[in-house]
Amino acid sequence: MTGEFELIGRLAPFLASSGEDLLVGHGDDAAVLEVEGRSVCVTVDVLVEDVHFRADLSSFQDVGWKAVAVNCSDVAAMGGRPAVAVVGLCRPPGMPVDDVERLYAGMHEACETWGLRLAGGDTVRAEALAVSVTVIGEVDGSGITRDGARPGDAVLVVGPLGAAAAALALDRAGLLDPEVPGDAALLAAHRRPRALVAAGSVLAAEGASALIDCSDGLGADLGHVCRASGVAVRLDETRLPVAPGVAEAALRAGVDVVELACGGGEDFALLATVPVARAEAVAAAAGAADGVDAAVVGEVVAPVAGTPDVLLRRSGGGSLDLARHGHDHFREDDA
Ligand code: ADP
Ligand code: MG
Repeated sequence: MTGEFELIGRLAPFLASSGEDLLVGHGDDAAVLEVEGRSVCVTVDVLVEDVHFRADLSSFQDVGWKAVAVNCSDVAAMGGRPAVAVVGLCRPPGMPVDDVERLYAGMHEACETWGLRLAGGDTVRAEALAVSVTVIGEVDGSGITRDGARPGDAVLVVGPLGAAAAALALDRAGLLDPEVPGDAALLAAHRRPRALVAAGSVLAAEGASALIDCSDGLGADLGHVCRASGVAVRLDETRLPVAPGVAEAALRAGVDVVELACGGGEDFALLATVPVARAEAVAAAAGAADGVDAAVVGEVVAPVAGTPDVLLRRSGGGSLDLARHGHDHFREDDA
């Protein structure tokens, strides 16, 4: 089957790029439209049972929460403020009304958390449970897009990395025990991701040159920034804000900690590039805005033919091509 990015490439002729009142078209975290002098951003994400969540790991409230949170994260990744959500519900026959209510309670809770309102939707019968949430937000100007990174900028990670992937790795290894507080904390990152909306606003106000949220993994998402901006990045493993408990989980599950921190998506950390002179101060301010760890993790460089776009200097020496090495390749390396 054609990969997601190849598919989107094939669809590009049918999609609008920026122009006139469309300030940002397809290819960023959200589209941005100018309406009577104000900028509005819009984004949609679909969660499907057994693809994005499992009933044995997440409650219906958790799924509802996550469906809203992942969209708020895309708004945060433009430096915007979520305002309103609508939901498309695919309901399998036999799904009890009580469970649908639980799903909506979770969406409502997330909406209260990030100050948006659930303003309607659509319900259809379907084979599998799927929840599609569209969020509209406000943003200043065009928002912070993926294409503004320049050589000499610093690379920032705002928010801890690897916790959600660690929970799933422990589960795959048959070692996840939600009764153990450490495992429960990792699982909470998978069940109830946080959207770093306040941090995104700080990054926008402080002049971030590029911004994206980490939904596919640090390597893949910084790869998007590199392609859009025509740059490369060099990162240091020792500087990554790896979430508490992830290194221990990697040991227990028998996987590389970098696989969890950089290969697993769903951290919903914000990845930003900023002029280097103020990078440490901006990282501290953005982290403080949402009460999360933040760090300057590397630098933007001009691309060099034949060298990887996203290169991680390992703590033990050597380096790893993060954009090309998804977790399948990590497994090969481990073997
Ligand atoms: P994110 O992880 O930030 O939600 P995605 O990886 O889902 O972003 O999408 C990347 C870009 O491709 C976005 O600009 C999105 O609008 C666009 N895109 C993804 N899927 C489709 C699709 N089926 N049709 C049109 N555009 C799409
Ligand atoms: Mg995104």
